[in-house]
Amino acid sequence: MREIQDKDIKRLANIYDPESKDTFVSVYINLNTNFRNFLNKRINACRNLLKKDSYLLENFNRAIEIIEESIENNRKQESLIIFASHVRDFFEIYYSSKDVENLLVVDTSPYIRPAIEILENYRKIGLILMNTNRVKMFVLYQEKLIPRKKLSEDILNRHKKGGWSQARFQRIRKEEIKSFMKEVIESCNSIFHNVDSIVLAGPGNGKKIFLDMAPSNLKEKIVDVVDLDFDEDEKELIRILNKIEEREEEAEEGILIEKIRKEILRDGLAVYGVKEVLNEVMKGKVDIIMVEKGLRIKGWICERCQAVGIGSKKLCPNCKEEVSEVDVIEEILEFCERFNTRIVFVEKSEAEDLGGIAGLLRYK
Ligand SMILES: [Zn+2]
Repeated sequence: MREIQDKDIKRLANIYDPESKDTFVSVYINLNTNFRNFLNKRINACRNLLKKDSYLLENFNRAIEIIEESIENNRKQESLIIFASHVRDFFEIYYSSKDVENLLVVDTSPYIRPAIEILENYRKIGLILMNTNRVKMFVLYQEKLIPRKKLSEDILNRHKKGGWSQARFQRIRKEEIKSFMKEVIESCNSIFHNVDSIVLAGPGNGKKIFLDMAPSNLKEKIVDVVDLDFDEDEKELIRILNKIEEREEEAEEGILIEKIRKEILRDGLAVYGVKEVLNEVMKGKVDIIMVEKGLRIKGWICERCQAVGIGSKKLCPNCKEEVSEVDVIEEILEFCERFNTRIVFVEKSEAEDLGGIAGLLRYK
């Protein structure tokens, strides 16, 4: 079992019951809580609702059996995230090192919204820790600092001996530093290609030489330059990176909200309100959305036609088969995952006048 990742959510967003039946059971369990009480209560409530449909009830009971068993087998984790459908022969289990809120949802597809919210807080940050002849590169992801590369060049010592003049020594040293920096830049391009923000840190003026030489696409990603000891403690590095990331995220959200407002004012590349956002997101036209934390809107889905709407309906307007009741926001988030639309959760006050949800379009 591994910690849930973005790629898992992307895959899960494409999974659904083709007959639009509520056959998927999704469970988020925080093992440090009194989850037993919670589960028993939810399981009973769901059984009561499903008992009029023996097909769904049987599926639910079978899924719960496997879920219960896998919880028992993984009691050492902090939190577990489980998706199961007996009739669709589907079972996936992950852990999360962040606390989750206990949840049991029966739906036509895996319920991924809480997982999206967990991972939205986990963004990849690159760290370049360097001086003029040594560098360590890391990626911070899911609270772990992953070492990616170490380079060092013995610049000073190689030329200490020999009878060079000071001027010649300095010139050669400069050239050596330059070639070292070139090597670092090359490594950065491959290591940080899928990282949005990088922190450049270290003692002395190595950082400045690096910045002077870095190409603009790399420089654009550098969000902060920090004086730090080359052998700084890992915990301290994580703390510093988290703080910078938090600040960056806040700033980024502010810029996004501003941009959406501007686009709305000039009737440009923006959509707002749940109906409009849903329509565009289903076509894959939305680049990024902001959505109020905790927002839920009642709607329906027909998985056969992949039709979603707001409000309640008994039959699908396309195929005239029965539809299933859903939270429209969850469906919007699933479409976002399918079409690589970025999701940003914002506070209620920031999205209230936009109907709780708004987005920027890729094109019109
Ligand atoms: Zn339909």
